[in-house]
Amino acid sequence: MKSLLALSPSLSNSVAAAAPFSFSFHSRSSNLLRARTKINPSKTPNLSPAISVFNSLASHGKPSNCSQSRGLYTDDRASGEIHVIVGPMFAGKTTTLLKRMKSESNNGRSVAIIKSNKDNRYGLDSIVTHDGEKLPCLPLADLSSVREKLGTEVYDKLEVIGIDEAQFFDDLYDFCCKAADHDGKTVIIAGLDGDYLRRSFGSVLDVIPIADSVTKLNARCEVCGKRAFFTLRKTEETKTELIAGAEVYMPVCRNHYVSGQVVKEATKAVLESQNLKISSLL
Ligand SMILES: [Zn+2]
Repeated sequence: MKSLLALSPSLSNSVAAAAPFSFSFHSRSSNLLRARTKINPSKTPNLSPAISVFNSLASHGKPSNCSQSRGLYTDDRASGEIHVIVGPMFAGKTTTLLKRMKSESNNGRSVAIIKSNKDNRYGLDSIVTHDGEKLPCLPLADLSSVREKLGTEVYDKLEVIGIDEAQFFDDLYDFCCKAADHDGKTVIIAGLDGDYLRRSFGSVLDVIPIADSVTKLNARCEVCGKRAFFTLRKTEETKTELIAGAEVYMPVCRNHYVSGQVVKEATKAVLESQNLKISSLL
């Protein structure tokens, strides 16, 4: 698969300026076509085999208008956007995020993907879907350090920020507010809306009131094949943050979530009573 590193600065800056971004999930191909028809080949930069997407942004990104956006409203102020992708595990959230990021990149926008450094299942500097698709990303403990880690110049040039596993960032709301409202960024976040007990997970739901769009994806129930909106934890571990894959979690429909919880409770009760009997015999 072609890396985002090579895709990032794929169109000329003049194209990005000539084709203001319109975020419509239904007209992606027409946007792309329109943008491509305006390419002036003589101005199109060579695709750079950059080591880092952020390096490529630094050398090819268009000049920032961030300083303008911090002042009073002006007509040329960049308009930020926030888009939220939620759903249970195995619903294709990361795949959807990566598709949108690649589409933005193909439209000539400067993009970067951030993920939590808590999730190191596939290495810290890459983002991998359950389908095996892999792209480079910046692993961080919190989002307030994005500007510092990227450097102000690179951050200011950045137009689209993707955040994967957004439930792990406690400062998600504040970051999204600042990035979209004041810095004119398009922020696309993907994360779990609920934990294995269907409780709100992290700050993902807090972002919905300030979002432009919310997409709830579904997986397929591992038991019956119907649409699955919930994540069932198969083990007895009770801490909320337990980063694992199919060995611990399964997507389930409502009926099988409820029955699965009942089975787990019954199993737990049987095991506890057995342990009690064993310990009383010792
Ligand atoms: Zn089911």
